[in-house]
Amino acid sequence: MEMMPANALWGKACKHLKEALHSDVFSRWIAVIDPVDLDATTLTLGVDNDFYQSWLEENYLPLIKQALQSVSDTEWKIIFTVKARSVAPALPVAPKKERKTIRDRLKNTKALAKSAASLNPKFKMDSFVVGPSNNFAHAASCAVADAPGRTYNPLFIYGGVGLGKTHLMQAIGHVALKNGKAKNVRYLSSETMLNEYIDALQNRSLPQFRNRYRNTDLLLIDDIHFLAGKERIQEEFFHTFNALFDSHKQIIMTSDRPASEISGLEQRLVSRFEWGLVTELEQPDFETRMAILRYKQKEMKVELPENLITFIAENVRANVRRLEGALIRAVSYSSLTNQVLTIESLKRLLRDTIEQEKKSDLTFSTIQHAVAEHYDIRMQDMTSTRRPRSIAVPRQVAMYLCRQMTPSSLPDIASAFAKTHATVLHASRSIENRMDVDDDLKRNVRDISRKLGQAVV
Ligand code: ADP
Ligand code: MG
Repeated sequence: MEMMPANALWGKACKHLKEALHSDVFSRWIAVIDPVDLDATTLTLGVDNDFYQSWLEENYLPLIKQALQSVSDTEWKIIFTVKARSVAPALPVAPKKERKTIRDRLKNTKALAKSAASLNPKFKMDSFVVGPSNNFAHAASCAVADAPGRTYNPLFIYGGVGLGKTHLMQAIGHVALKNGKAKNVRYLSSETMLNEYIDALQNRSLPQFRNRYRNTDLLLIDDIHFLAGKERIQEEFFHTFNALFDSHKQIIMTSDRPASEISGLEQRLVSRFEWGLVTELEQPDFETRMAILRYKQKEMKVELPENLITFIAENVRANVRRLEGALIRAVSYSSLTNQVLTIESLKRLLRDTIEQEKKSDLTFSTIQHAVAEHYDIRMQDMTSTRRPRSIAVPRQVAMYLCRQMTPSSLPDIASAFAKTHATVLHASRSIENRMDVDDDLKRNVRDISRKLGQAVV
C-alpha cells in the first residue's frame, strides 16, 4: 500500500476540522500544528510547547482522530511532540497575527463588563411570571437583588432547559443595578469564562483576567455545568470564588442540575456552591403556563381566543421557551394568512412541537445513566475526557441518543457532556455511520433504546 505523506493526510483532516470547529478555535489550536511524521500506524504532530501539547491532548484529540479517520478510513495513533524546546516560559504566546485580535477582544470584554450591556433588556424581574414552580427561586432572587452579598451567597439556581434560569439570573442584575446595590455587574456563560481564561493564558494576561472578575460586585455565571471535567478553569474559578466571597461580593450561578450531580466538578467547588442558597426552577404547572401565555400575549399586543390559549397550555408543558414559540407561531399564523385560527389548524401548526413534547420526558441524565449501565462504565465518564475505546464509544452512543431522543439543541447536549458542540456532532454522525456496518454496535444501541422505552430506526 502506498503511504500518504504526513502533510497530505494532515491537510485533508484540517479541511474537516475547519468545518467542525469555530474559526477562532481552529486558528488558535489546529492551524498551529505541524505534521512531522507518518508511519504505518502513527501520525506525529509537532507543536510549539508543552502547553499546546497538553491542551490539545485534553481537549481536541478525539476530534482530530475522528477527522483523520473520516478522511482516510484508518484509525491513526496520534503523538504530539514539542518541536523545539525554547527557553521561553511554559505559557505559549499567540501567533503574531492573532495577538491583535485577542487584544481587541479583551478590550471589548472590558468595555462590556463596565456597563450592564452584558444583560439582555428583555430579562427583567417584571416580565418573569411567578407561579408555584418558581416562586421560591423568584423570592430568593428578589432578596439577593435587594442585598447582594449579604443574604444568600452564592445563589445557585438549577433546572431544565428553557425554564427561565438565564432570565431570572439577569433580572437580578437589572434590579441590583437599578437600586444602586451593585455598580459592576457581569453576566457571562461559563463557556465564555473558559474562553477568556484560555485567551489570558495565551496572552499572558492572567492578572488582568483575574482583576476583571474580582472587581465585580455581582458575578453571574450561567450554565456552570459546562465546567465539568475542566480542571484548570475550575482551579482558577475556585480562587475567584473565594476572593469574591471574602469581600462580600455576590455570586450567582445556574446549572442544569444540582452541583453534587455535576460529574467532574471538584468537591471543594460543589461544597462552596451549596454554602448559600440552592433553588430549583421546576416545570411550570398548568396555571402558570396560562399566566405566562396571557402575559406574553399582552406584551405582543395580541389576543387569541381562550380555547386556543388553553390548548397551547395543555399541550406544551416541558419548557417555557417552547411555550413562547408556540404562541408566536399561533399569533403569526393569523396575521400572515389573514385567516381565523381554529383548533384544527392550531393542532396542525403545532404538530412538531407536540411531537417534541412527547420526547422531552427523557432527560440527558436518564439517557447517560442507561448507557453507562449498559456498558458498565461510570457516570462520570460521560463528562470526562478519558479516551479508551471502552469509554469513548459508550459516550458517543449517549451523545447520539440524546440527539435522537430529545428535542434539545446541540449546544445543550454538548454542555451535558462538557464537550463542544462539534464533538457531539461528530460523535453522533460517527455512531450513525458505524451502525450501518457494525452489527454489535447496532444491537447495543437498540437494547439501550428499548430500555429507555424508545423505538430506534
Ligand atoms: P434557561 O436559561 O433556563 O434555559 P431562559 O431563561 O433562557 O431559560 O428562558 C427561556 C425563555 O422563556 C426566555 O424567553 C424567558 O424569557 C422565558 N421564560 C422562562 N421562564 C419564564 C417566566 N417564569 N415568565 C416569563 N417568561 C419566562
Ligand atoms: Mg440559559
